[in-house]
Amino acid sequence: MSQPATHHNKAAAAFLKNGQRAQWHDETLWFVRAKRDKAAHQIPEWEALRNLGSQIKEHTLSNLDEYLLQFEANAKKNGIKVHWANNAAEHNQIVYEILLHHNAVNVVKSKSMLTEECGLNHYLTERKISVVDTDLGEYIVQLRNEPPSHIVLPAIHLKKEDVSNTFHKHLHTEKNNQDPVYLTRAARQVLRKKFITADAAITGVNFAVAETGGIVVCTNEGNADLGVHANKVHIACMGFEKIIPRAQDLSVFLRLLARSATGQPITTYSSHFHRPKAGQEMHIVLVNNGRTEQLGREAFRNSLKCIRCAACFNTCPVYRRSGGHSYHNSVAGPIGSILAPNLDMRKNADLPFASTLCGSCTNVCPVKINIHEQLWSWRQVLMAEGYGGAAKKTSMKLMTGVLSKPAIYRLSAGMARFFMRYLPFLVNNRLNPWYKQRDMPSVPKESFKDWYKKNRNHE
Ligand code: SF4
Repeated sequence: MSQPATHHNKAAAAFLKNGQRAQWHDETLWFVRAKRDKAAHQIPEWEALRNLGSQIKEHTLSNLDEYLLQFEANAKKNGIKVHWANNAAEHNQIVYEILLHHNAVNVVKSKSMLTEECGLNHYLTERKISVVDTDLGEYIVQLRNEPPSHIVLPAIHLKKEDVSNTFHKHLHTEKNNQDPVYLTRAARQVLRKKFITADAAITGVNFAVAETGGIVVCTNEGNADLGVHANKVHIACMGFEKIIPRAQDLSVFLRLLARSATGQPITTYSSHFHRPKAGQEMHIVLVNNGRTEQLGREAFRNSLKCIRCAACFNTCPVYRRSGGHSYHNSVAGPIGSILAPNLDMRKNADLPFASTLCGSCTNVCPVKINIHEQLWSWRQVLMAEGYGGAAKKTSMKLMTGVLSKPAIYRLSAGMARFFMRYLPFLVNNRLNPWYKQRDMPSVPKESFKDWYKKNRNHE
């Protein structure tokens, strides 16, 4: 079996070449993580909410088929047209046919990671349909022809000078004017016209409520509402995992989502769409695209609990120091590294290794997904399936040989201590990336074992 390329390593190395920018990225995301901590600690019932959120999701996943059908029936009763897509290609075709039916050639779209996952923009653009992403961060990356680097903060890899240059090039704003208010107003002017002149609006879905057949879309900019209310066609695209059983469950998830994502008590707009308004057509596309397969993988089914808050991104030392694009997947970060191999094991075999397994992701996850354990489980699956890469396989075999034989282990440890003490340049050199930003640890004179032998009778 051919071995995967280690895309993440290479992309991360490229990202780190600009040390100042990488440090700024790291600190900015840590700032968001700290805001999350403050918001979470402000409510004493935070851990109880996490438990409840996790249990509701567990129950929903165990009865996913029933809740999806209940949702479909209730949505239809409300006058919504419901479509089922088994994969990305079906999803794109369904959306295209709806647009074609309405002669829609200009579309506004609020943030939807599912449409990123399905490559919808590209698909529609190839068919001469113009799609404008109306979330400000998404609009910026779209102008730059880049994918989002973060699921909540799509342009977090860019600084205000980058945005200024991008807007100067595409929107003809003043050169070098980096004032965020000025730049935001410029984007607003352009986007207002797009909302009004569009033929259809596409939105994502944060939660789909089975008992009501309605959906909830959370934004901080109100762009989903503007798009939907200014247009005669609303298409909402959602993955199966967005389903929740009851409207009252929203009281748990809306609190967990905003505090975990940005440290806000609640997202600025939590918009509820239950039926098309008079004269409007509303469609919901329910998308599988590998989700039922993931549900069937016992070790990874919990990953479908994810509410896409990105708290695991903001806390992850690898994500913060390697940037979202290094993950080469629509969902980056720790959870993306669990979801991606399910979609394409070979292409994404490198991602579960892009983690220190420190467990910080698991600690912050609002729905208590055991993220670091699943990353570790994926590594075992990928190695067993032959996707580990020759270097990794050889070094693991070597380590197994050393660690399983005490005599060889003792000999190797003694040699390592000798070399690190008397010939440090053999390990601490340009060829060893581990030492590029680290100091050589001081080597003890003797091993713990030797020390223990000498001292164990002294007590
Ligand atoms: S895995 Fe948890 S922390 Fe990460 S995005 Fe999903 S819900 Fe948020």
